[in-house]
Amino acid sequence: MRSQKDSILLIDDNEENKSELHEILSDTYTVIDVNNITEALTKLENHSHKISMILLDLMISNMEGFTFLSELQKREAIMNIPVIVITSEYSELKEEEALQLGAYDIISKPFQPAIIRRRIENTIQSLKTAAVINLIERDALTGLYSMNFFTEKVTEVLQTCANEKYLVIFANISRFKLVNELFGRTEGDELLRFIGKTMIEMIGEHELCGHAGADNFFLFMKQECYSEAILRAIVDRLNNYPIPINIVMRFGVYTLDDITMPIDKIFDRAKLAVDTFDGNYDSYICYYDDSIRQKLLREQMITNAMKAAITEKQFIVFYQPKFDLITESVIGAEALVRWIHPEYGFLSPGEFIPIFEKNGFISELDYYVWECVCQKIATWIETGHEVIPISVNVSRVDLYNPKLPKLLYELVQRYKIPIQYLHLEITESAYTDNAKQMIEIVNEIRRYGFVIEMDDFGTGYSSLNMLSDLPIEILKLDMSFLRNNVGRSSGRSVIKFIINLAKWLGLFVVAEGVETQDQALFLKNMGCDYAQGYYYSKPVAEVDFEKLLLETRINVPN
Ligand code: C2E
Ligand code: CA
Ligand code: CA
Repeated sequence: MRSQKDSILLIDDNEENKSELHEILSDTYTVIDVNNITEALTKLENHSHKISMILLDLMISNMEGFTFLSELQKREAIMNIPVIVITSEYSELKEEEALQLGAYDIISKPFQPAIIRRRIENTIQSLKTAAVINLIERDALTGLYSMNFFTEKVTEVLQTCANEKYLVIFANISRFKLVNELFGRTEGDELLRFIGKTMIEMIGEHELCGHAGADNFFLFMKQECYSEAILRAIVDRLNNYPIPINIVMRFGVYTLDDITMPIDKIFDRAKLAVDTFDGNYDSYICYYDDSIRQKLLREQMITNAMKAAITEKQFIVFYQPKFDLITESVIGAEALVRWIHPEYGFLSPGEFIPIFEKNGFISELDYYVWECVCQKIATWIETGHEVIPISVNVSRVDLYNPKLPKLLYELVQRYKIPIQYLHLEITESAYTDNAKQMIEIVNEIRRYGFVIEMDDFGTGYSSLNMLSDLPIEILKLDMSFLRNNVGRSSGRSVIKFIINLAKWLGLFVVAEGVETQDQALFLKNMGCDYAQGYYYSKPVAEVDFEKLLLETRINVPN
């Protein structure tokens, strides 16, 4: 059953041909007449998707049919519409040339209605089969376009409607892996399917949605159709998704200012906008703009300067003491790296660490810091100085190195320092990224005798029942945890609960980011063991730290 007639564009200026073909075809097809090739190309460019096939009189206006065929080949958006050429007299040479120029088939006069109908039907049918193959290129999971098809569609739109303004939006879920990790792949797939459905409903049929694998999605739309409310509506839907963790979707929006830019670069810009979110959990839309370009340039500058910074010893280790809340004595310290660049001045670890984590240089820097700390401890031991455990940061990237446990062990061996003096801080989110593998490697490190502190507790998503399985001795409450909870009575109960739970599991608790006496007092009353923060001391240079140690009575826990 045919719901709508297929349309054939008939390019012919010969009245006799036209009326004969109309007679043969009009019952089955909508025949659109044009008299010259300029008109034909305009019609095709504006209505390409409505035209199923072209019938072309090769002899039109003095053999312009050939020109038409070669013009068609230059236009990507319409080049795949099949052309059947009509030749008035048999000429093998001309037919061959027409076929060479991409003609699909040839019919010659005198017209034989049955054969013409059959040839046309075959041609249109094969085109439809090709369209079905494209349709399979819809992603089976989400029902959205596959990236190949999406890219093709976007290219086509940009070529045919170049005078419009367009946007590309990249959407991605923060910590999607966690859904798979905690609830299983089937649940993860279910969520992706839900997102696909939501996007189609919210964006509508006129815009394009593509699924770029995993939790990555692309949208393409006219600027006039875009509003933040559309993205808000998607976020609202996801907020109500029945799963016990918060699904956070973020959007990077790039308004195309130059449509001749390669398509990959266009997609990259929307993606880069999402990459700049960092830890800001309140916003969910980021626009690619000049500040992002500046940020990328700065990232490049940092990357270019990092290698020399190690050899030229531009990285300096600072120490921030940790205090016992009851005795108020220093019980340890955290080593925090600083970068003093001869030209750019002081660079914050908050800026360069995430860049090094992305480009992999963090492992080299971390090793450098660990070695500086081991050297320091060794000197203290040699000189009879008081020794306290120093905690170093171990990036999640380091944990992907299966040789890490041995590397750390050989380091303390080389400097002959008792293993309990080098504590390792591993951020909570490292465990949730790839729980099984991470737990295994941390366990191996721990078997050598290292003390493991779980850093930034409260920012990741480790469920409380997971806590008892993790190979750790010390829980470091993240400073945001303290900040968000001390002020409210329900928050205070949460802190109390966590501290009690930690005690019950036999863990020590350190609170970081303690800035006021009130906070210190509160933590002490809650049974927290240790504190670190500006209230006690900022991170300080080595010499100042040694002075501080001498001034404060030291009480090392066993
Ligand atoms: P972190 O491990 O959570 O370190 C604590 C951060 O909080 C430090 O920032 C510290 O200076 C800051 N801080 C301490 N007390 C207070 C306070 O009372 N109030 C406030 N507002 N801040 C406080 P810093 O030194 O800028 O380091 C930032 C992050 O960079 C660190 O967070 C850590 O994740 C990373 N980092 C620093 N050094 C290293 C390193 O050698 N290796 C690795 N992998 N990461 C490092
Ligand atoms: Ca830390
Ligand atoms: Ca921390």
